[in-house]
Formats: sequence, structure tokens, C-alpha cells
Amino acid sequence: MPNSLQDIISPLHNYLMALYQKYQSLKEGKVADYIPELGRADTDWFGISIVNTDGQIYQVGDYQQSFTIQSISKPFVYGLALENYGRETVLNRVGLEPTGEAFNSIVLDAKNNRPCNPMVNAGAIATTDLLTGEDSGARLQQILKMFHLYTGRRLDVDIPVFLSEKATGSRNRAIAYLMHNSGMISDRVEETLNIYFQQCSISVTCNDLAMMGATLANKGKNPITGEQAIKSHYVQDVLSLMHTCGMYDFAGEWAYRVGLPAKSGVSGGIVAVVPGKCGIGIFSPLLDAKGNSIRAVKVCEELAKDFGLHLYGAVEPTYDLAFSMQQPYPFLTATSSG
Ligand code: GLN
Repeated sequence: MPNSLQDIISPLHNYLMALYQKYQSLKEGKVADYIPELGRADTDWFGISIVNTDGQIYQVGDYQQSFTIQSISKPFVYGLALENYGRETVLNRVGLEPTGEAFNSIVLDAKNNRPCNPMVNAGAIATTDLLTGEDSGARLQQILKMFHLYTGRRLDVDIPVFLSEKATGSRNRAIAYLMHNSGMISDRVEETLNIYFQQCSISVTCNDLAMMGATLANKGKNPITGEQAIKSHYVQDVLSLMHTCGMYDFAGEWAYRVGLPAKSGVSGGIVAVVPGKCGIGIFSPLLDAKGNSIRAVKVCEELAKDFGLHLYGAVEPTYDLAFSMQQPYPFLTATSSG
């Protein structure tokens, strides 16, 4: 049953509904279970949301279901660090090269002793360390305020997930102390780890992810609230790193198949950005061996193919996304063309 007039009249909504139904029956993969809170995710959860740069929203399935943002926080906190310190200082602490390794690998760039990029845990912890603020509360508030600008709503930390991340975070602790040992992060190691665990435990919906993506697609300006979430100057830094390093050690194949900057998280979310056009947020907790949501990867591959979204694509797409989106009520066009 359609919920609103827009559900009835938007061909894009109907397209997304068909995509949702097609992949809902796909049951491959397994949910992250390194903490019990993530292991309890319902394997049927599946939501898709698209927000375009004109502020129109298209959403199907469990788009209101909350989950923790996990690694999807990394590019956004990287943007915040760039705003706090500028490119040069951030570059001294975090590199720009993909690792080809798992996100939690304990590897530093041998020449500079710094983490390879801000999308692996080492780089994200170093980025979080850069955030200014007199205490951990002020530093966390800075992150929450930034996400408010991106999503247009106040987000909160899921406390049980945070406490579990903290209780089981020995590997991240090892990474942080290794970086402290080589002078890459400051003395407040435990405080920074606490903030990192909290930033990973912020509750979002796939609609929030689409809003965040749409804001990056719109030169850093939230297309609905009109607020600037990140200086337009730094949008290209964030998107470039998402493009080369955003999908764990699947980043190369993702760039080849989908061709969009994106970031995934172990709770099953993916945000993808179509610069100038829209943000895509997808949530489904069943993961592949590399930690990416299986349904979400499939949906992005299909969207990219059907709408010609690959940034280097030169093939005529099956559908014209710009057309569907620029016409909020294209029902008449759809019926008149049969
Ligand atoms: N909290 C997780 C960690 O730091 C985040 C991992 C992820 O989403 N890849 O290990």
C-alpha cells in the first residue's frame, strides 16, 4: 500500500521498490558479531533512501530503522579535522594511500610512520585525535554538531554499543598506542579512543546517510536546511578519499564497478555520493567477507548501471535520473508515454 501521494506518483520510487523487492530475498552473508549488540541485527532489515540536491527524498523499506554509523563516521570526521587544522597539518598525521588491507590492520606507512589513510581505523583514530576541544565532552559535541548539520536532526550515541566497543576494543587500543609511541597522536590516548568508540556508535538511519551524501553532493550544503556542513573547499578531499579507500579492501573493485565515492560500515550501512546530483543511503546488515553490506553493494551496482552514475561512464543509461528527480510529479509524463 502506498503511504503518500508521492509514493503513487514517482517513477523513481517505483523503481526503488522493485529493486528492494528483488534483493530482499537475497539472504547471503552474515551480520557483524564482534559485539553482541551488532549480532542481534535482524537479517531482514533493508532500507534504501535517495536525497537529491534539490532536497527531494525517495525512500523504501526500513529507512527509519536505526543502526550505528560505525566506519561511515570516518570521512565526515576527517572533514571536520581538515576544517580544524587545514590540509597540511592533517596530511602530516594521516596519509592518502589505500592499503589493500583490512580496516583494522595494524599497519603504518613505513616511511612517515603515519596511518595510510583516514578510512582505516588507524587513520580514523589519528583524525579523531586532531579534534580540538578542552575535554572529551566538547570534542564529542563537535562531532554531534557536525552530524546535525549534515542530517538536519540531532543524533545520539547508542550507549550499549559504545560500552561494548570500548570493552572489546583491544585492537584499536593497540593501534592507538602504536601511533602514540611514534608520536603520531597526542598523550590523551584513552580520551581519543573513547571519542572514536562513541563516534562509531552514533545512531543513524539510511535516510540520514542519504542526507549526508546529498550534502557532500551539494558542495557541502544540506539541500533541505540550507546549512553549510563542511566548507566547500574540503568536499573534494573527503570525496577523493571515499573514492579510493571508502569500501575497505574492496575499494578498487568498487571504483571499477560502481565508480562513486562511498563509505561502508560494519553494521551494514553504505553512503554513496553522486556529485551534483544526490546522496544514496542503504542499510542491510548481512555482510560479505570484507565487511560490506551485500544487498547494499548490489543495489549500488544496479543504480550505477541503470542511471549511468559511474563517474567515468560513457554508456547511455537505461533511465535518466536527472529527469526523474527534476520533476517532483512526473506521473503524467510516465502515463502519457505509456
Ligand atoms: N567500531 C568498529 C571498529 O573500530 C568500526 C569498524 C567498521 O565499521 N569497519 O573496529
